[in-house]
Amino acid sequence: MPSFQLASREYKKEDTVIHLGTAAVGGGNTLIIAGPCAVENREMMLELAPVLKDMGVHVLRGGAFKPRTSPYSFQGLGEEGLRILNEAGRCTGLPVVTELMDVRDGELVYRYADIIQIGSRNMQNYTLLREVGQMDKPVMLKRGLSATIEEWLLAAEYILAEGNQQVILCERGIRTFETYTRNTLDVAAVGAVKNLSHLPVIVDPSHATGRRELVAPAAKAAAAAGADGLMIEVHPNPGKALSDGQQSITPRELAVLLKMVRAIDHALDRSRVHY
Ligand code: PEP
Ligand code: MN
Repeated sequence: MPSFQLASREYKKEDTVIHLGTAAVGGGNTLIIAGPCAVENREMMLELAPVLKDMGVHVLRGGAFKPRTSPYSFQGLGEEGLRILNEAGRCTGLPVVTELMDVRDGELVYRYADIIQIGSRNMQNYTLLREVGQMDKPVMLKRGLSATIEEWLLAAEYILAEGNQQVILCERGIRTFETYTRNTLDVAAVGAVKNLSHLPVIVDPSHATGRRELVAPAAKAAAAAGADGLMIEVHPNPGKALSDGQQSITPRELAVLLKMVRAIDHALDRSRVHY
């Protein structure tokens, strides 16, 4: 018996399917999340959102509270960023996802977000996990920088145990000895999690690689591995991005990538995949 229970395949055989607006994730449904690392200004979000929607993106992302390594880096626009993201979502009909970093901002982020993101650095912030476990909105739980698969699923268990069954797992690379890439995409974790758990698992090839030229190959590998979706950082002008420009791709590059991902999904006939 694994140490996690509610998250396990033994506890629930069928894939958990989470509905987000008109889209869904899990059970053969592939979810595409895209948007800038951080919400930078209103014009950019209002211009970018409809472009992404036309490409078939299902969920708009954008950080308002950014967990930056340096305290001197851009920290996000805070509530103003949440308002802008929410407006861009409402204008296009796209659900929005944004990170909740601090339990004190729980109500604020809940008000503006459709999906609450728990970032890697907070994967084992158990107070925060319990807080979102009591919310009635889906939670996207990113894998910790150095977390094992079991620790990650136990973090999900905290959310499930509080009553929130809508948990989406997100593999975003783990820290290894390799420094050429920002992190190392653990592509085998996708299959492992799908065997161990009924929860949907998506992949973030942007943070996993840290290099825009590696986003497409990593995304294709994730799709081929059976990931339930992708989260990709997109910026109209990556060279000018206030955060993570080096790993951001343009909307045009995303359009090309999504065609390839759809071809892979089609070849796999995901609706027939059973674990
Ligand atoms: C992000 O998705 O904006 C982010 C900060 O990612 P991570 O928590 O995986 O580093
Ligand atoms: Mn980022």
